[in-house]
Amino acid sequence: MDKEFLHNVLRAEIRERKIPLSLGKTCPVKCTFCYEKDHSYRKTYETPLTTQEDWDFIFNEIKKIPTRKDESWVLGGNEYMEWTDLPLHPKALDWIEEFLDNTDKNITMFTVGYANPERINKLAERHPGRINFELSVITLGEARKKLMPNGPSKEQVLQILDGPAVTSANFYSFGPDTMSEDARRISRINPKVLLWMGCLTPLKYIDPDTTALMRFGKKFLADEARKIYDYNLPNTMMIHTESDITSFLNRNKIIKTFDACELEKKDTVVMAGNVHRILTMFRRNRARYLYVPNATLGGDSNCSTLLTFSDVSQRITNQTRIYLPKVILEKSSDVEMDIAGESFDDFKARFPRCTFKVLNKVNSGLSNRKLYEKGYLKNYVEDYLGNPLSKKFEMTASPN
Ligand code: SF4
Repeated sequence: MDKEFLHNVLRAEIRERKIPLSLGKTCPVKCTFCYEKDHSYRKTYETPLTTQEDWDFIFNEIKKIPTRKDESWVLGGNEYMEWTDLPLHPKALDWIEEFLDNTDKNITMFTVGYANPERINKLAERHPGRINFELSVITLGEARKKLMPNGPSKEQVLQILDGPAVTSANFYSFGPDTMSEDARRISRINPKVLLWMGCLTPLKYIDPDTTALMRFGKKFLADEARKIYDYNLPNTMMIHTESDITSFLNRNKIIKTFDACELEKKDTVVMAGNVHRILTMFRRNRARYLYVPNATLGGDSNCSTLLTFSDVSQRITNQTRIYLPKVILEKSSDVEMDIAGESFDDFKARFPRCTFKVLNKVNSGLSNRKLYEKGYLKNYVEDYLGNPLSKKFEMTASPN
């Protein structure tokens, strides 16, 4: 890759507030659940291993961008590059340190645990509140070896947790006494870390064994969550990974936003299964709901914010006007495009006989805000599991 081209890719990532280091290869950890196993839905470029010279370029470009309050720079490009576990880069911690020492910007990093515990904890002490460290524990239970054959040891993960660096630890249900046991164990070591729990959703390229394990885990989500609720742990606890649960907990806002869009009965509006269920249950026949499956991601994915134009295209028949939620066009900060990188203009050009109207109120700002507001374990246990309406919601037939 020539330098100028590389610089353009790096700049594009930096515009999206990414710190685009590269391992120069696919991620060596090879987790069986990795959502980057197949990233063919978006265009990525094979960037070489980041050298000192590349870092100097990246850091200079970042420093030119004014700091915005509440903004955090993510370690790793994932718009035009492949996502990898970047603390594996031999210089990653040196460069993180340089970034923190020489800017007033915050950093977000994700890792399955490849960061020197002593060093990262020292850095966090020196820069309180500036490192948002999301540790992907996944599981400390029996399934760990199978899911993360090259992952760090449990001991290493627990050592990182034993200090101020980690802000949130994510782990999931894979059956009885999995998520609940991990919650207890992690909380004992670190009662301050945010516990981020739920299930992993199988996508179409995840192998059958891993898919079966994820689905098995989902069957026990309710039991596991109730147990944790009863443990009354001191940590902040969130359930974040189930789009149906999230939309049920936010049903009032979804309905209010839908009403505010003032659609007519004959208007066609695009949505994935999670929102379709809500509107079928609470606003039946108030518009024509064009159910669009998440065909690009496939598997059990059921989320309106992850729809692509290609998914929508497959469901268009003879409509002349279609309303689209704005979330579909919001991958990039400067061009309207979907998560696969197709621009809205290219999509529209494919359907010259149809007019597309954007529902601006249905945007990612709203969906992210709601995801967090109602994403607590307490909401799930009290307002979802404890609400008889949720049974009816679960029984609402999935659309075809
Ligand atoms: S460490 Fe992260 S990027 Fe690497 S294989 Fe595992 S999940 Fe994927």
